[in-house]
Amino acid sequence: MNEEISKLINLQEIDSEIAGFDQEIKAKQQEIAAREQGIADKEEEAAKCRKKSAALEQEQRDIKAECEDARAHIKDRQNKMMHIQTSREHQALLKEIEDSKRLIKESEDQAVLYMEQIEQLQIKAEELENLCAGEKKLLTEEIEKAEKAVKRIANRKKKVESERGKIAPDLLPGTLHRYDMLLKKRNGSAVVETRNGICQGCFMAIPPQQFNEVRKGDKLNFCPTCQRVLYFKEEETEVCDA
Ligand SMILES: [Zn+2]
Repeated sequence: MNEEISKLINLQEIDSEIAGFDQEIKAKQQEIAAREQGIADKEEEAAKCRKKSAALEQEQRDIKAECEDARAHIKDRQNKMMHIQTSREHQALLKEIEDSKRLIKESEDQAVLYMEQIEQLQIKAEELENLCAGEKKLLTEEIEKAEKAVKRIANRKKKVESERGKIAPDLLPGTLHRYDMLLKKRNGSAVVETRNGICQGCFMAIPPQQFNEVRKGDKLNFCPTCQRVLYFKEEETEVCDA
């Protein structure tokens, strides 16, 4: 095989490895971000429960004040009752007292309902807050682990990059330039195998005559569709007998 092609294959392997490191790092970062988001969502939910519970508590206080007013009103009307002369006035006061009593009864029923809701909201908020506290602790450990892993990956990447730095200048400047451009344009894959006359980069057929040239490997060949560098790898003919 043409030496330039071998060098390009080698370089592509190295660049794929480097891209793999970047993906590994990104995956770790995304995993952490997703978990942070999960905690933030739960915290928000807990805060909503607390806020709703506080609003209901305020309602309860308002109801209590309303009941006290109603009780005072009843007392006032009961006192008045002792000084009235006519049955019409008597009836009117009785009605006012009855109305106030009904209001108190309704308000107290409502307060009981609120109390139950407040309890449920507070239980839910506490559960979420406990969950968040536990997850945060775990996540801190996970982040430490991930940071160490990222450091290890970055170190491996550095080594491979320095290897690339040694190999790349061996290529003809024009070839290297074309390769670098392709790498950028073709999402990290510039040199691809051909199988059964098909470019493994874009999966389009290569004209038979060109495929023969690729097989021979005497010179650089580019896919007519995606312009990637093409090479042909002899099939492994060894048979493993079980
Ligand atoms: Zn192609």
